[in-house]
Amino acid sequence: MKDEKQLLSKVTKRLDALSKLPMAKEDKELESLLNQKGIERRDFMKWAGAMTAALALPASFTPLTARAAEVASRLPVIWLHMAECTGCSESLLRAEDPSIDSIIFDTINLEYHETIMAAAGYQAEHNLENAIKKHNGNYILMVEGGIPTIEHYLTIGAEGRTGAQTCREAAQGAAAIFAIGTCSSFGGVQAAHPNPTSAAPLSKIISKPIINVPGCPPSEKNIVGNVLYFVMFGTLPALDAFNRPKWAYGHRIHDLCERRGHFDAGEFVQHFGDENAQKGYCLYKVGCKGPYTFNNCSKLRFNSHTSWPIQAGHGCIGCSEPNFWDTMSPFEEPLSNKLYQTAYNGLGADKTADTVGTVILAATAIGIAAHAVVSSMTKSKTEE
Ligand code: SF4
Repeated sequence: MKDEKQLLSKVTKRLDALSKLPMAKEDKELESLLNQKGIERRDFMKWAGAMTAALALPASFTPLTARAAEVASRLPVIWLHMAECTGCSESLLRAEDPSIDSIIFDTINLEYHETIMAAAGYQAEHNLENAIKKHNGNYILMVEGGIPTIEHYLTIGAEGRTGAQTCREAAQGAAAIFAIGTCSSFGGVQAAHPNPTSAAPLSKIISKPIINVPGCPPSEKNIVGNVLYFVMFGTLPALDAFNRPKWAYGHRIHDLCERRGHFDAGEFVQHFGDENAQKGYCLYKVGCKGPYTFNNCSKLRFNSHTSWPIQAGHGCIGCSEPNFWDTMSPFEEPLSNKLYQTAYNGLGADKTADTVGTVILAATAIGIAAHAVVSSMTKSKTEE
């Protein structure tokens, strides 16, 4: 209790200090934006309560989470695009019915963002240099996309700087660095076999602490939640072995899935569109990778929080895991099929970290497949 009080007072002081910083001239206060969208204060506070719980903070932090959202606009953000599809930005920016999360993102002081800025060419390059100089030591750097490491791929600007160079320069003065999306966190599709540009994750390019926010795309709440955490505490949240925030990636999709009861009961969709699919049975046998994937999709959902892939009838493809294009595909087949095959092909002959990871994944997949078979058999017996 004493620790909680001390922490509350520390966060309050930090937010007081941040609220005294000037806003960018063209930015609007969050309150006026919420009013414009017809969102009442009561709904905003409800959102703050839910976000506080999502961040695994005590309920007493709710007013501070709300305040952090209000002062988040004081913290400049530099957002770089590397090799990617811009899907992570699009998912935040193209919200037809914007959630409070995306409205907060609208208020964030985006000093540099290639997709939405008006400037181009030399002007854009100057803007980036100026933003780095002006906010040295105080900005959040967000990087979207994998980073090609073979020279001449992804060169930027008149001097032909590489994407990797731009990342390194921008990282030097950053107060916090977020790799946004799976490509920036783990390389993504760019780094999938045969990886012709030798694309790498941001963590292989710069040597400062990075918080990975993977997903294809990641949920807007997972991005905004990390910004708020940094605004409140000035530090990064607790991270897992892959530098993902535990508050967002601490549970498997399988642990939080609404179809989990069917998995445990041995009730599986055998083919897309079959009778079991109509009954909402488990999607493991048509390729769901939920048992091997850590993310909070089932809680947050997509498209204004209305649905998510498993609810819509397709299995999880494991998009927030490292190397998912190579390890999780084909997406419509159970992972165990592929791993049995891999085992017959001599798994374990080379002793790389990837192979060790694959062996663990294989053991898990085989265990889960065995469970699926046994529970299906038990189920058929009961039905007989
Ligand atoms: S295998 Fe997939 S669909 Fe089935 S319970 Fe697990 S996460 Fe849900």
